[in-house]
Order: sequence, then structure tokens, then C-alpha cells
Amino acid sequence: MQRTLILLKPDAVQRRLVGDIITRFERKGLRLAGLKLVQVSRELAEKHYAVHKGKPFYESLLTFLTSGPTVALVWEGREAVAVCRNLMGVTDGAKSAPGTIRGDFALSVQNNLVHGSDSTENAAIEIALWFTPEELV
Ligand code: ATP
Ligand code: MG
Repeated sequence: MQRTLILLKPDAVQRRLVGDIITRFERKGLRLAGLKLVQVSRELAEKHYAVHKGKPFYESLLTFLTSGPTVALVWEGREAVAVCRNLMGVTDGAKSAPGTIRGDFALSVQNNLVHGSDSTENAAIEIALWFTPEELV
């Protein structure tokens, strides 16, 4: 069974959208395998978004991810990586389709509420970065 890492970024927590967003993953039929609230350190943010180092939005992205608590989740289910990406919508909230999380609740490119692993390989790396094996059920 596939697992994927989902983050509800600081804007989701600040805007009180945590419950609404978690409900969407639950209703799809995914199983919750891990959940915690994290005040993300600069070090963790750098590791998580290492692939974007050097891009013009990198520093701003790190400031955003460390600006307040983030909810880290592991969801499990059939095709979980792709299913979650579809539920999230495309990166830019202005372009994501209605019915998706970003399409319904986000207008920004950066402040787009959620992160989701983009491959099974990256999911394994990201889950290990955010959770210890004992924290997963
Ligand atoms: P995520 O990795 O957070 O799930 P994603 O895979 O849809 O999002 P990426 O290209 O990996 O998008 O970008 C990572 C994050 O960086 C985006 O979610 C967004 O918060 C921010 N970002 C991406 N592109 C831009 C941009 N052009 N300007 C500002 N922020 C951006
Ligand atoms: Mg990404």
C-alpha cells in the first residue's frame, strides 16, 4: 500500500482550514498513518525544500514554512501519492481547479495551503524526514 507525506502549511493552520482539509483526505478513503503539529525549524525547511535551493522564491518559501505551526500527515492507500496530488490541485491557487483544496481555498502560488510528495521515492524520503518509524501507525 502506498504512503505519502502531506503538510498543511502555516497558512492552512492560520486560516483555520485544518479540519476541512483533513476531511477531504478522509472522505476519499485514505487511511491516516501519522499526524503531528510541528513548529518547523529553518534546518528542517531547508531539507524539505532542498530541491528548490537557488530558485528566486527559495528564501521566501523557507520564511513561509517556518512562519507558524505546520500539520504533518502521512496518508496511506491505493495510489496515495497521485490521489493526494489530485485532491490538492496544481501549485498555483489561481490555476487549480474548483473542487481541489487549492482550487477552492487558495489564490496564491506560494501560500497554497498544502504540500504533497510528488513520487513514491520522494514520499519515502520525506516521511523519514518528518516522522520516526515509532510515530507511524
Ligand atoms: P509542494 O512541493 O509544496 O507540494 P508543488 O509540488 O505543487 O508544491 P513545487 O514546484 O514543488 O510545487 O514548489 C514547492 C512550493 O514552493 C510550492 O508549493 C509553493 O509554496 C512554492 N512555489 C513554487 N513555485 C513558486 C513561485 N513561482 N513563486 C513563489 N512560490 C512558489
Ligand atoms: Mg513539490
